[in-house]
Amino acid sequence: MTIKEGLNSVLKTIPKGVKLVAVSKYNPLESLLEAYNAGHRIFGENRVQELEAKQKEAPKDIEWHLIGRLQRNKVKYIVPYVDTIHSIDSEKLLKEVNKRAGNVEREHPIKVLFQVHVAQEETKTGFTPEELMEFIESKPWDRYPNVEYHGLMMMASNTDDMEQVGGEFEQVAQLMKQIQSRANEISLPNTFHELSMGMSHDYELAIQHGATIVRVGSKIFHPEG
Ligand SMILES: *Cc1c(COP(=O)(O)O)cnc(C)c1O
Repeated sequence: MTIKEGLNSVLKTIPKGVKLVAVSKYNPLESLLEAYNAGHRIFGENRVQELEAKQKEAPKDIEWHLIGRLQRNKVKYIVPYVDTIHSIDSEKLLKEVNKRAGNVEREHPIKVLFQVHVAQEETKTGFTPEELMEFIESKPWDRYPNVEYHGLMMMASNTDDMEQVGGEFEQVAQLMKQIQSRANEISLPNTFHELSMGMSHDYELAIQHGATIVRVGSKIFHPEG
């Protein structure tokens, strides 16, 4: 299968209203451009250095998503052009993004998602559901007004146990409901409704649990068959 065929086979399975982020990490710019030339415009990278290198060379109408862990000292490089940062995992990071976003001219505000840690793996980062609830009750939007708050992101445990994975998707979907049920009390921004969850092997399950953004890499760039 070519990349174009891989992309189309994934797109076929994604309902309208769910956004596909094509995760181009580890793939050369030429591969990204194959998907671009097939009509796709939304790409995700997990490392700033690789994102920077590709962004400089690639067409300017790409919507870039940073999906991996972000160090505070690298924030300044990406704020001029990044569309969405999926991996806000601490108040310190949000503070830095807010500060840098206040210093640049942009057409649209940077969108951010809070990364939630529910997986059974120490290596993954993010707020626990309890930490996030507490943080959100403190109304961070009042303190950090230069970004747009779009919702939650998570990575499920790296396992073939789909019951486990489905349970984790559901946990984050329920957390979103809990947050939205407090919308009035906490002045929740009305943009706060996105759920970024699901990768190549589990995105269809994620959509069943309410994902509105899926991040798919290998199934597009290394399709089988
Ligand atoms: C690599 C990656 C993906 C995509 O993974 P695939 O299995 O290649 O689809 C999604 N989200 C994050 C955060 C990633 O790092």
